[in-house]
Formats: sequence, C-alpha cells, structure tokens
Amino acid sequence: MRKKLVAGNWKMNNDLDAGLKLTSEIIHMVEDEVRGNVGVVIAPPFVHLTKISQLLKNEARISLAAQNCSEHEKGAYTGEVSAGMLASVGVNFVIIGHSERREYFNETNEQLARKTDIVLNHGLLPIFCCGESLEIREKGNYVEHVCNQLNESLFHLSEEELRKVVIAYEPIWAIGTGKTASTEQAQEMHHALRNYIAGAYGKELADDITILYGGSCKPSNAPELFACADVDGGLIGGASLSSRDFVDIIK
Ligand code: PGA
Repeated sequence: MRKKLVAGNWKMNNDLDAGLKLTSEIIHMVEDEVRGNVGVVIAPPFVHLTKISQLLKNEARISLAAQNCSEHEKGAYTGEVSAGMLASVGVNFVIIGHSERREYFNETNEQLARKTDIVLNHGLLPIFCCGESLEIREKGNYVEHVCNQLNESLFHLSEEELRKVVIAYEPIWAIGTGKTASTEQAQEMHHALRNYIAGAYGKELADDITILYGGSCKPSNAPELFACADVDGGLIGGASLSSRDFVDIIK
C-alpha cells in the first residue's frame, strides 16, 4: 500500500506567532477530525522550524519539512542552510526543486540531484517537485519534459534511495493561479511518471512511490484529484495557510 500524504507548503508567509498559531490549530484539528492512514507534513519557513519542531514533538502524525536546503555540506555559503542543520532541529522532509526555486533562483536538474543526495545522506526525505510550464504544455512535449526532470535529478539513486523519495507533480500553470489540472491531466502525468520509474527501476518499486499533485488544490477539488488511481495526495500552497482548508483537504 502506497503512503498517502498531504503536505502544506507555506512559502514565504506567516511571521513566527502566526506560524505557531497555525501549527497548533492543525495539531488539534488533525487529532479530532482526521482518521485513516494519511501522513501530514507542514513546511514552514526556515526560521520557524526549531520552535515548530518543539510543538510537534509528540505528534506522530504530523511531520516537519523545510522548503529548501543548500547543495553544500557546510562552509562559506552566506545565507544558506544545510541539510545537517535541518536534521539537527528535527526536520523530517525537505522540498527540493519547487518550480519557484527553479524559476527565480535558477536551480538546475544537476543541482537538484546534489540536493537530493545531501538530503538523503542526512537521513531526511526529499519531496521532489517536477512540472511543466504552460508553454511546454501547449507544445505537447510535457510528459517527456517532466520525465527528463526525474531522469536528471533522481535516476542516479539506488533503489533503496529512490524508495525514500516523494514526488510532487506540480504543473507550473496551475500553481497559485486558481487553475487546477483536470483529473484526466493529473492522472495522465502521474501514470506516465510511474511507468517511467517502472521502466528504470521495475514495477514493484514504481508502485510503491508516493506521487503528490500540487497546483491550486483546495477542499473543493481535492476529493476528485485524490480519487485518481495514481494520485497519492497533495502538495498544498495557498490553501495550507488556513487550518480549516488544510484539514478539510486532509480529510
Ligand atoms: P498552490 O501552490 O496550492 O498555491 O497553487 C502549490 C505549490 O506551489 O506547492
């Protein structure tokens, strides 16, 4: 059985007080209302992680993610945060290669391969983001484009390592735009990615990998998206800033 996951990516939102309040609300609502086998992840900004990690100490169902990390181990990289530092404050997951990192900070597939390695080396779990722009979608070569992102950033991993990776398919044209992929578009891509992984690593491993959908996911469209055979949950941006919406999506 593949693990189901809902992860909230807060991006650069919430000061510390607001972040702690949102976390406390999620803790209470998840305890009271969420049943079944679904993992919950929240990804606050770096400076919140230490305090939020303390709040989550006894919460087996809620894991903590960072939104990024350095591709370097340590040293003279002003402004960067290392995977080792994240592990030392209780972080469990690291989001790697979000389209905003790729677009605004020019992160390349090769760099993301290094980040994936460093995250795994520190015992953390990568949430690896992939997805195509509107231009590529309209040209028609979107499946090849996204498969290539996986190939260049993940396919150097051993089977054992790849098993630890969560993939998040996020069409860039759907992020923060209110325009969600249709269930057919999401299922087509998730199925294609699973097939592509099966081609390189075998079907058994491909069937085990959690593939999340992200892009304007909200309580109203989550049920139909998550009902798709190859969609195992979501990476939620805007709607994860409201505890009510986030927990409704998890439910
Ligand atoms: P959105 O963002 O839900 O606000 O579209 C998703 C994401 O960027 O992970």
